[in-house]
Amino acid sequence: MIIAIDGPAGSGKSTLGRMLARALNLLYIDTGSMYRAVALATIDAALDPADNDAVTDLAQRVDMDLEGDPDSLRVWLAGRDVTERIRDDDITEMSSIVSTIPGVRRAMVARQRELGKRGAVMNGRDIGTVVFPDADIKFFLDAVADERAERRFKEDLLVNPEATLAQTLAEITERDLRDTTRSDSPLKIAEDAIVIDSTGLSIQEVFERMMEHVHRNH
Ligand code: C5P
Repeated sequence: MIIAIDGPAGSGKSTLGRMLARALNLLYIDTGSMYRAVALATIDAALDPADNDAVTDLAQRVDMDLEGDPDSLRVWLAGRDVTERIRDDDITEMSSIVSTIPGVRRAMVARQRELGKRGAVMNGRDIGTVVFPDADIKFFLDAVADERAERRFKEDLLVNPEATLAQTLAEITERDLRDTTRSDSPLKIAEDAIVIDSTGLSIQEVFERMMEHVHRNH
């Protein structure tokens, strides 16, 4: 079974994806981590992110691994554990830039199809539209920008005491704009997706709604 979860930053994809994967005993694959790993490799190699060919070439041969159960997923880049590093601000911004490059997307989509072929909960921006258009269930999670920023800000504060809510809001607004307006695989709602607006809902409430859909369909 493939469950696709797409949506903008801070919509709850990771938390709910993990919960669903655990409840259904499926592999959990966070595709955002993969774009983040490419971003880190781009920075480490001091590549110009505007050089599409060089970044595509890097994305095709980059040695990355996602490992562990849903609650303790670790991301490895060339044998180095980069799980924490890829959450830093510079990587967040760079991942949003390199993910607009068509060659980078093609390389990641190929890996994602391979990783998910035995069944998975996979989250990202284009899972239901591009990576697994035939997914068994597609969710599109959303929430108003202020609430998404608020959620992200709490996470940001844990790693950066100087974070401000205004900064986090500006950052996710910029990323959402880039994700929805890029020409290759923009963030959009798949025609057959179940849209859940989690504004004002608790995680548990959203989880229960999602599980209802899973049980109704399977
Ligand atoms: O999900 P997360 O915020 O960690 O993703 C980081 C960036 O990677 C996003 O801002 C988005 O630009 C990109 N991304 C993407 N397609 C995906 C997953 C992430 O373009 N399937």
